[in-house]
Amino acid sequence: MSLGYLNMLGVSSTDLKGVRGGGSDIKWSDVAAALSFGLSPGAQHLGFYLFAGHEESRRIVIRLLTVIMSRQFEELRGEEMPLKTAQGLAESVLVELSDRRRCTRCAGSGTVIEKVQRGSPAIYGTSKSLTACPKCGGVGVQSMSDYQRARLAGINSKTLVRRYLNVRASGCRAYSAWLTELRDHLDAQLNPTGADDTTSH
Ligand SMILES: [Zn+2]
Repeated sequence: MSLGYLNMLGVSSTDLKGVRGGGSDIKWSDVAAALSFGLSPGAQHLGFYLFAGHEESRRIVIRLLTVIMSRQFEELRGEEMPLKTAQGLAESVLVELSDRRRCTRCAGSGTVIEKVQRGSPAIYGTSKSLTACPKCGGVGVQSMSDYQRARLAGINSKTLVRRYLNVRASGCRAYSAWLTELRDHLDAQLNPTGADDTTSH
């Protein structure tokens, strides 16, 4: 519900090129800055990218993920990861986790209707029941194969599996932590006392 609030403001439909113009109108960037006060840079820029389509913030998120994964790689292996590989992996994390590709089996609902056999074989009929989608495991989003991840990162999948799966996972964890931080923050900002929608602002 809270995340829908930003959409209600229409921030994503604002002409970003017009943001720097004069005037005293409240801009989407003012609202975003106020709402994001106190957030870590990762959570803040992820929010600007996801909910306002801010391309510069997308680049900043990629840069942060690149740094996190490079450090992780150096810690694990005691050598530097090629910058291009780190950037490619960061890109692949962002694409997989933010580009919500809906599962083709359940159309994003996470559930499928399953026919269940009832009764004895002589008089049997079928009834329907909702179960977790077997393709996406109930998440509603298509997961990527290692081949797709590697292709996005510009490396081959054997190299990904042999050398980079651990560091890529650390990038995914960083992304999830930022998203959680962002959601908690928006909830707290928009419902400061946990009050419901009938109270005035
Ligand atoms: Zn599914």
